[in-house]
Amino acid sequence: MTDHLMGVYNRAPLSVARGQGAWLWDTEGRQYLDCVAGIATNALGHCHPKLVAALTEQANTLWHVSNIFRVPGQEALAERLTAATFADVVFFASTGTESVECALKTARRYHYAKGAPERIDVIGFAGSFHGRTYGAINAAGNPSYTEGFGPRLPGYIQLTLDDAAALAEAIARPTTAAVIVEPVQGEGGARALTGEWLTELRRLCTVHGVLLIYDEVQSGMGRTGRLFAHQWFEGAEPDIMCVAKALGGGYPVAACLATADAASGMVAGVHGTTFGGSPLAMAVALAAFDEISNPNTLAHARDVAEDLRRQLIDLAARYPDVIQDVRGKGLLIGLRMIPNNREFMGIARDHGLLVAGGGENCVRLLPPLNLSHAEAAEAVTRLALACETVRA
Ligand code: PMP
Repeated sequence: MTDHLMGVYNRAPLSVARGQGAWLWDTEGRQYLDCVAGIATNALGHCHPKLVAALTEQANTLWHVSNIFRVPGQEALAERLTAATFADVVFFASTGTESVECALKTARRYHYAKGAPERIDVIGFAGSFHGRTYGAINAAGNPSYTEGFGPRLPGYIQLTLDDAAALAEAIARPTTAAVIVEPVQGEGGARALTGEWLTELRRLCTVHGVLLIYDEVQSGMGRTGRLFAHQWFEGAEPDIMCVAKALGGGYPVAACLATADAASGMVAGVHGTTFGGSPLAMAVALAAFDEISNPNTLAHARDVAEDLRRQLIDLAARYPDVIQDVRGKGLLIGLRMIPNNREFMGIARDHGLLVAGGGENCVRLLPPLNLSHAEAAEAVTRLALACETVRA
């Protein structure tokens, strides 16, 4: 068979036919427990009835009008997002990387509008991931994503998360515009920042007039058991935040949230997108938001995450030659592997369990937030079988 897809795809040998809840079926009829959930996207599982109903109803009413006209769903979702966070205003897009692009542009326009156009530098961190546009790959600065794509863009500085002195020095420079960070690194391997680290970063940014951007594309929308991961901590709120993935529960929806002040340079005409905030996207996202932000959903996510984590720690103790440690926060879980993580993912798949890869040789578990306790136990059983296969 001729493959007409670009060579960039790096895929598992699995063609997916259908999904329901936390389960997927391939085209051969094999069933898998899905702890990838579209990479932390299908937070309510596959084909959630409320999302299906919202999409179907909207599809029979109005699909798309572009950003030339008002879309009532945008006002409604922006109201919910701002009521639930630090933010005053929202820009809707379709993908995480676009929400990052909007955040970077919002930060630079802020300083420009305040008469400080020399403030252009954006500080990012090793191990982070912000998407694949030029802005996003430069903000993260990971060479495996920038290599071969021409010169690195000026105005991006990469630091490490553990060099507090370098960070304080860089934030104090008069050319610094913003800092962008994931409160829990996802692609980098489920690395959770502490409340102390984030509150100190918040303090430094405030002192030096630098905007703080959180990329909660992966850690947000209930993934850690709070609506947003930074909300676990007091005094760690950002000025700008990127949200995507679970915001649409599997439908492409993204948002860049900001305080009114941080967004003060984003005036009519300086930014836009054709598809962002479409009626279809808003209908699904409103249904997803109401379900995910329901205190019962979040309480369940915390509960099942704790249950799963306890079982995974036990598993790591039983297979110390396979699993080095368990990390992450809530249902953004990383297992640092001793064998190659990619090989382990294939073995787990053979045992009917889908897991994602991650930096630092991690295997990530990103199940839907409504995973049942029985399904959590089943995931651990299948991981144990995979560990046995590694040993054999
Ligand atoms: N930021 C983070 C933290 C992400 O995890 C991702 C996707 N893995 C992105 C940005 C990019 O999102 P998208 O693929 O929707 O552009």
